[in-house]
Amino acid sequence: MNILQPFNTVFFVGLVVYFWIRHGFMEQTKGQKNKVRRVDTVEKVLLAAMFLPVLVLPLIYFFTPLLSFADYHLPWFVLCSGVVVMVTSLWLFRRSHVDLGLNWSVSLEIRENHTLICHGVYRLVRHPMYTSIWMWAISQGMLLQNWFVGWAVVPAFAAMYFIRMPREERLMVETFGDDYRRYTRQTGRLFPRLRKAAEQLDERETSASSAPDSDSTPRSPLT
Ligand code: SAH
Repeated sequence: MNILQPFNTVFFVGLVVYFWIRHGFMEQTKGQKNKVRRVDTVEKVLLAAMFLPVLVLPLIYFFTPLLSFADYHLPWFVLCSGVVVMVTSLWLFRRSHVDLGLNWSVSLEIRENHTLICHGVYRLVRHPMYTSIWMWAISQGMLLQNWFVGWAVVPAFAAMYFIRMPREERLMVETFGDDYRRYTRQTGRLFPRLRKAAEQLDERETSASSAPDSDSTPRSPLT
């Protein structure tokens, strides 16, 4: 059984951790009331399409020989790098849930008391959770040595990302207006904008050296 191969076991443990993190935040945000909910057929299809490559295909691959026709072998250093990418992805996945707090939702929603989060990982990147899911998709390809199972998340998440992300940004502009527009100028979508990050660091260092009570200086890029 494939599950007994060491790198498959590592990925399986990561998969359990991934769903455990998600489950914890679903429980935490359970009773939240929404002001806006944009869950149309496209959104439902995109979410459902992720379920197959993220969960169903790996389970079939781990516990049955049905997909062995697409097996291949990866060098050891790719497998080890895959572990690093997977662990980083899990860290970022959890970190972005923590930073979004009660504002987080599986689909496109605006809570009754929704606030624009610009701190933590959101200080530099607008979609860190999507960055973590991209990393997860790549780590799956680097760890599961099967063309079909390893790389199936990439097209599914590409569809999700390229259709959903612009809708999400439109919703954020409708809700937060100029605050969100200003925030987009300060941040990158999936990766930090290095020049902006360096400028922010400079500004913080300058204000820290000039203000004695620098601890109370707001850290939001909107200020
Ligand atoms: N795209 C983000 C968040 C994904 S969760 C990321 O990849 O990290 C999706 C929900 O998060 C959306 O319904 C939206 O309401 C909310 N959201 C996205 N960015 C936000 C922000 N900066 N502050 C508060 N809520 C945000």
